[in-house]
Amino acid sequence: MHEWSITESIVVSSAKIAVEQGASKVVKVYVKVGELSQLELEILKTATNELKKEYDVVRDADFVFEVEEARFKCLSCGYSWGFSEVKRKINEIFCGSPDKECDNPIHYVPDLVNSFIRCPKCGSPDFEVVAGRGVYIAKLERDIVEGLTEFFMGYVLYTRYWECYIAWIKSRYPVCAISYEKDVKLFGAAAQVLIPISDLAKIYVYNPSIDWYEQYRGFLDNYNMEDFLINKPKKKRKWPSRTLFENIIVKILREKACENLVGEFRDLLYEASISEVLN
Ligand code: ZN
Repeated sequence: MHEWSITESIVVSSAKIAVEQGASKVVKVYVKVGELSQLELEILKTATNELKKEYDVVRDADFVFEVEEARFKCLSCGYSWGFSEVKRKINEIFCGSPDKECDNPIHYVPDLVNSFIRCPKCGSPDFEVVAGRGVYIAKLERDIVEGLTEFFMGYVLYTRYWECYIAWIKSRYPVCAISYEKDVKLFGAAAQVLIPISDLAKIYVYNPSIDWYEQYRGFLDNYNMEDFLINKPKKKRKWPSRTLFENIIVKILREKACENLVGEFRDLLYEASISEVLN
């Protein structure tokens, strides 16, 4: 079935993009489906849920499909129109009646639309498809927890292991094994306990419409932190000691949760393997 082969390329592409972005887990994938392709969203959804299981990075992701309305623009008279205005004509050509819907070649090859429709106003065959032709991945949302850990990893690297930070920024992770050492695990855990998730989510959930610089400034102001990414801080700020951080977290866990969590936290900090902590 046509939908299944399209789904396969959606899943493969999103996994590829995620890996290129350095994500280990994607929670949401937004897919725009051009109206002209006349794809069945329900079938796409079902097929995705099957196929994503083969790719670790997207296997837990929720795929959200949205139809992008088709728009056409006449190159002779400038008139602009939508697919609904020509759909009856298509039905008439392929299905025998303007009111009858059926499987048609445009579903398989959207470009064929140029051979079958004319500008509804002046009748010219010379028009362009402005929107709604293809299928594309509009946005990926990464796992938030990963973002939190990365944030603090970046901070610790920047302040303490400058060379490693440069390598890390350039995505050469393997030379930076040091970044996953205990301090970083602790700071990552601290971030998740002490800082409201919603604030960091604004920074880490990928969204091209967000002004990242503004979010970053707001974050720094909120937590009284100095700029550590864009302009170097004027004087070197002393990073709180591990013990202090650990005590704060233990105190909060005791007050807000229970003794069990304190134990779990200490296990994570001192005993757990790297892969366990990152998970
Ligand atoms: Zn026209």
